[in-house]
Amino acid sequence: MTAEDLLTLEEARARMLEDVLPLRAETLPLAEALGRVLAQDVHALLTLPPWDNSAMDGYAVRSEDVAGAGPDTPVRLAVVGEVAAGHQPETAVGPGQALRVLTGGMLPPGADAVVKVEDTDAPAGVADLPRSVAVHASVEPGTHVRRSGSDMQRGDALLWAGTRVTPAVIAVTAAAGHARLDVHRRPRVGVISTGDELTPVGEPLGPASIPDSNGETIAAQVRVAGGEPVRLGIAADDREVVRERLIEGILTADVLVVTGGVSVGAHDVVKEVFSEIGTLDLWRVAIQPGKPVAYGSTRRPDGGSCLLFGLPGNPVSSFVTFELFARPVLRRLRGEEPMGGRVVVRARLADEVTKSAARRAFIRVRLETDADGTWRARLAGGQGSHVLSALAAANGLAIIPEGEAVAPAGTEVEVIRLDVEVA
Ligand code: AMP
Ligand code: MG
Repeated sequence: MTAEDLLTLEEARARMLEDVLPLRAETLPLAEALGRVLAQDVHALLTLPPWDNSAMDGYAVRSEDVAGAGPDTPVRLAVVGEVAAGHQPETAVGPGQALRVLTGGMLPPGADAVVKVEDTDAPAGVADLPRSVAVHASVEPGTHVRRSGSDMQRGDALLWAGTRVTPAVIAVTAAAGHARLDVHRRPRVGVISTGDELTPVGEPLGPASIPDSNGETIAAQVRVAGGEPVRLGIAADDREVVRERLIEGILTADVLVVTGGVSVGAHDVVKEVFSEIGTLDLWRVAIQPGKPVAYGSTRRPDGGSCLLFGLPGNPVSSFVTFELFARPVLRRLRGEEPMGGRVVVRARLADEVTKSAARRAFIRVRLETDADGTWRARLAGGQGSHVLSALAAANGLAIIPEGEAVAPAGTEVEVIRLDVEVA
């Protein structure tokens, strides 16, 4: 604990992650597994290439036959056949002979190298099979030959559980002979906004209302973090209404993210509802923005557990606390390293930053590169926790540690890039 009994970010996050395990696995066809996280190690079911084959369009030869070949000393070979990809050679290559081969074609018996077509007098491209070919270059044994097993051997370990399925992962998996993969289920995340002032986005506003931007934002953040958002709408600042909405959400969700109503105001009922339906940890975390964060868990009727996040209503606070707490939890649920996926760079502040000394600040900044290639972080606008325009203008969150009230321009800081997501 820090001064005034605030939890550090790391303490709060570690407590949240303590009991969180990856969701169960399901088996999906490759195309549907894209973006999921492997729940299995992947081994090669095949040796690839399965046989020696040609890396070029050209002629399969015995390297000893063309040892003396050069631009002015061509060696003429009899062309005794052809091997295209997908076909087996019908004849072997004997002394003084060659077979025309196409890229991927099996290296015929007897041949130990390939002379590319450009090093012969044969025309490139579609042409009738010549009776003979003049070779203008010598080759070593193995030249332009892709060896059997040079990519993978049957049984080789290729990928490990916890790897995100990217197009490259699909490439190697398909080549290795797998049509399906075991991947973790995606977390279903119910999103609830609380507040009498909120109106669904797109509907006419009353005299004292504002659009429910958090509902849209959190759903988008859930999607980017690899979860499946389930919109559960707006709940009025009323204990019964909030309670009913949460109970509805618990039926199917792995996680519920509720925004608003977690402070100490007269209408802040979310914490009470958490403790009625499950457990509640209410933390004052030493961060700015976003000090009050409620976390809890409850049982679903089907016996599974449902995690509960109560994030502050201020839009920037809910955005930042989702990033710092909910995102790592969703990553763990989907089978990934909780703190992975973000790129942190070191940058120099272009502007002075003032903040609360007791808390670690996450400042909306615009990262630019200096002439010498180092990063510079400029304030993206006002830092009030209601100022969404500065959030949209920012491409990073600069981290100013606890213990300082002022960070002068020029201070070197870490910046979480918000514009890149890595697997
Ligand atoms: P609260 O945490 O409920 O006290 O809300 C703090 C501030 O955030 C208030 O100004 C609310 O109007 C605003 N707010 C709460 N929920 C939302 C929401 N879903 N969308 C936009 N602003 C919100
Ligand atoms: Mg409220």
